[in-house]
Amino acid sequence: MSEKAAPAIELQDVHLSLGRGAARVHILKGVSVSLADGEATGLVGPSGSGKSTLLMTMAGLERPDSGLVKVAGQDLGALDEDGLAVFRGKHIGIVFQSFHLVPTMTARENVALPLELAGHPDAFSRAEAELRNVGLGQRMDHYPAQLSGGEQQRVAIARAVAPDPAILVADEPTGNLDEATGRAIVDLIFALKRERGATLVLVTHDLSLAALCERTVRLRSGVIEAEAEMAVA
Ligand code: ADP
Ligand code: MG
Repeated sequence: MSEKAAPAIELQDVHLSLGRGAARVHILKGVSVSLADGEATGLVGPSGSGKSTLLMTMAGLERPDSGLVKVAGQDLGALDEDGLAVFRGKHIGIVFQSFHLVPTMTARENVALPLELAGHPDAFSRAEAELRNVGLGQRMDHYPAQLSGGEQQRVAIARAVAPDPAILVADEPTGNLDEATGRAIVDLIFALKRERGATLVLVTHDLSLAALCERTVRLRSGVIEAEAEMAVA
């Protein structure tokens, strides 16, 4: 591969503040970064440096005060809230540290939900295929509380990839899991990324996980401090 593909995610001089009044915090202070299509990027940095905020900005869940956020060729600032929700549902899969499953829905229903919202004709059979693909064929009718942490994260991953998004973002997806379970979850995320040809942004404080990515971006106090390209075997 000699030519670089068009960027999947492009940020130019992004500033973002959250909170009100005296609690208002200027979190992102001029972030510019461009992530190539199909690339895996590890986003690292100290706690409180703005990793989650940056990830949610890339995922269209936070809007910047100023600056450009372009995802899959779309300027997110040009979309209204409804347009942004539709765009996210189609193009962006999100995995959180604490899983964020709907507790009153079974595994099958959780995975089917985004497919139904996107008007997928066969949401339930597609959800079942995705659950089998993450090794949960025997857990379709379980509720989140009846699943282990690792199993809940598998459901959340199945839900994130079910609409076949071009972009997959994961915020410390192993943060609530023991080391062996966490490693299996990361292997699963990378396997699915390769299988679907998605662009991945993985927030982690674990440098051995970041090292699995082609590239590392380090954030400190809301600015990008360093970037490194990994030699991928
Ligand atoms: P990281 O994920 O790197 O730990 P975050 O993006 O979660 O960092 O947060 C960066 C900074 O912004 C922290 O100092 C945090 O306290 C602050 N922050 C995050 N969310 C809010 C919010 N909704 N209101 C005010 N401050 C916030
Ligand atoms: Mg965070």
